[in-house]
Amino acid sequence: MPGINEKIFTGATIYNDEKTTFEKDYEPKNSDGGYLGKITVRRALESSQNIPFVEMMEQITPKKAISYLEEMGITSLTDEDESLALALGGLQNGVTPLEMASAYATIANDGIYIQPTFYSSIVDNRGRTVMTSKQEKRTIFSEQVAYVLKKLLQQPVNGTYGTATYCAIPGIDVSAKTGTTDENYDKWLCGFTPYYTAVAWFGFDQNETIKYNSQNPAGIMWANVMRSIHDGFSGARFYQSSKIVTAEICADTGKIARTGCTNTYVEYFLQGTEPSQCTRHSGSIVDVNDREDNQTEEKNIIYTDDNNDLELDPDEEEITNTVVQNDNEETNENIENENAQNDVAQNEVGVPPAQNNTVANDTLPENDVVDENEIIDSPENDGNEEIDNTLSSDVQTDEEDDNTEKNSTETVE
Ligand SMILES: [Zn+2]
Repeated sequence: MPGINEKIFTGATIYNDEKTTFEKDYEPKNSDGGYLGKITVRRALESSQNIPFVEMMEQITPKKAISYLEEMGITSLTDEDESLALALGGLQNGVTPLEMASAYATIANDGIYIQPTFYSSIVDNRGRTVMTSKQEKRTIFSEQVAYVLKKLLQQPVNGTYGTATYCAIPGIDVSAKTGTTDENYDKWLCGFTPYYTAVAWFGFDQNETIKYNSQNPAGIMWANVMRSIHDGFSGARFYQSSKIVTAEICADTGKIARTGCTNTYVEYFLQGTEPSQCTRHSGSIVDVNDREDNQTEEKNIIYTDDNNDLELDPDEEEITNTVVQNDNEETNENIENENAQNDVAQNEVGVPPAQNNTVANDTLPENDVVDENEIIDSPENDGNEEIDNTLSSDVQTDEEDDNTEKNSTETVE
C-alpha cells in the first residue's frame, strides 16, 4: 500500500526474484529453492515470492511502512519490528486477527480506516437507542489507491500460480492473501469481497508446526465461512473508481505491451504512473479493452469449481476468525467518500447487522452442510491425523508453502 500510495512502484514494476543478501546478513529465501527471476509486483504477489517484497520494503523503508501500519490500526509493533523482515511479516509480537481485519477493511472501504467494534447500538425495550458505538474513522489513502490494491490482491485468487485460488466465490470479486511463518507455526488468510472483510488465523499458543493435508487450514476456514455468508448474494465486482488507467503490460519488461510482446496481462495504474512502451519487443500498442473483457469472462469460468471445502473441528485447534462488514456494500454503485464517511449505518464494523445475519442464516444451505460432512468423512481429507503428527516431520507439501523459508525469522509465504 505505501509503495503504491507514494508511487514508489506500480503493479507492473519489475523486481528480481533471486538469492539476495540484504543488510549484510539477512537472506530471506523461497523455500522451494526456486527463484523466478525478473517478475512484476503482481506476479510476486500471486505466489508470494519473498525477495521482491523485501526489495520493495527497502525502497519504502520499514520506518514508513510502520507508520502506515499504525495508521491502519495495528497497535502491537515494537522498535525491533523496524527491519526489512517486516516485509514478510517478521514481527516480535505479531498482530491480532481483529487488527489485521481492520487493516484489510481499510482497503475494502476505499482507504477509510474504521475502528473495529463489537456492537453497533444498544436499544431499550421501547426501541429507544441507549447508546451507539462510536468508531474512529480516518482516510488513509485514496479510493484510487484502494482500487489498485484490490485488483492486485485478486491475483492470489485468480492467478494460475495463486496461493488462494480456493477462496474464489463464483460471481463475486475476491481479494485474498495467505500467510505462513517459519516452520509453519502460523497460518493466515486475510481477504475481502465487495461485501465483507474476513481474517482467519490458525496456530497454537505454544508454537507447533501445522500440517493439514498440505493445505492452509486458516484459508479453508476463510473460504467456507465466506462462501456461506455470500450464498445468495448478488454477483459483485469492485467498483472501478475514476482516474484509473488500465493498460496491457508486457510481463517481461513491465512496460506497456506492443503486439510483439508474447507474455502480456492487464494492469491497473494510478493516473500518471503508467509505464512507457516496451522497448524489448516491437509492434503497435495492444488495445487493452478487448483483452480486459476476455479476462473477466475467463475469471468467471475458471475459478468456480473448488474441492477444498474441508471443515475443521473447532475443538481441535485454536481458531480465531474475524469477519467484518465492508463499508461499500453496494459495490456496483459509486459510493462517494463523503457519503461513506457520513453514513454511519454503512460504516459498521464488527458484528454484521441483523439484516445481513438473517440473510446469511436463511441462506446457509442444507446441502452445503451435507457437502462438508461428506468431505469430512472422507479418509483422505481427514485433517486430524495430520495435525497429530505435526511434530514428526518437516514436510512442506503445501502448494502455497513452497516459498516458505526455513532459516530466517519469519516469513509470509
Ligand atoms: Zn515486451
